[in-house]
Amino acid sequence: MNKIIFANNPLDRSSNLRSDKEWQSSSITDENTCFVLFNSGKPLIRVSREPGKNSKIYLAHFNKVEKYLDKSYTVFLGRLENQNYYAIDTGGQKETVSISEFDEGKFIDLRSIAQSISPEETGILAQAKSMMDWNRSHQYCSKCESSELRVVDSGCKKICDKCKTEFFPRVDPVVIMLPIFNERCLLGRQKIFPPRMFSALAGFLEPGETIEDAVIREVKEEVGLDVSKVTYKFTQPWPFPYQLMIACFCEVESETTKLDEDEIEEAVWLSREDLNRIFVGKSPDRIWIPPAMAVAHQLIVSWMHEK
Ligand SMILES: [Zn+2]
Repeated sequence: MNKIIFANNPLDRSSNLRSDKEWQSSSITDENTCFVLFNSGKPLIRVSREPGKNSKIYLAHFNKVEKYLDKSYTVFLGRLENQNYYAIDTGGQKETVSISEFDEGKFIDLRSIAQSISPEETGILAQAKSMMDWNRSHQYCSKCESSELRVVDSGCKKICDKCKTEFFPRVDPVVIMLPIFNERCLLGRQKIFPPRMFSALAGFLEPGETIEDAVIREVKEEVGLDVSKVTYKFTQPWPFPYQLMIACFCEVESETTKLDEDEIEEAVWLSREDLNRIFVGKSPDRIWIPPAMAVAHQLIVSWMHEK
């Protein structure tokens, strides 16, 4: 299987260093420290002009980010081969940074560039982007509803000084599953999908639910099928803004679907042969599936290769 995009973060998060104020303040200026920059939620990328060569994260040193450090959210990401990695938010649309400061660097929407970056670097970006988005959406205390939160532990935690509540970065789990019956799998189409695209079923995990419960509920709600067995396959961080995709196979007890048409407008049962035809662009119904960066794609491929 291909390496799953956003899922191969090579950083050692070194969480023991987050609260070490002395280490943090000296590491910021260290020559072995690099910064991943964000602006309006977009990472700074060194775009490859050579065909077949990956674009890369633009890693800046202290001298280039010094002026942002005081007023900006900065988070310690971790360490890799003696390098310390931080991410920094240089502002929003109104406070645009001068691109000329970062020759050959460009702030690019992560969704549009992820497929041309190495899986390891997309892993670093997934961590960094989710932290940037969490910071932006968690500025004030939601308990006493007044105080501005204070950032502690190198950006990995926030505290309300008034009521002492601590806030941690959030992760929203989503189950994504492939119903299987009689050597065929079920793909569905939501109204918002591009024409003729079909994908695995998916939905947010609800409080008090196990992964298995969520798969069983979603499959019943969306296509009216009873699940008899859930098999966990793999996960993918999806940093828009901070989801975790939990990919599963699920065996169902019949092939007669009853669609919730608000959610799924059409569903198709496909054999491995049908999927092979889709992959070579020869689907008789012009069906296609999401690109390789989507975990749905990897889940479908993983089922095709099971036999
Ligand atoms: Zn509070």
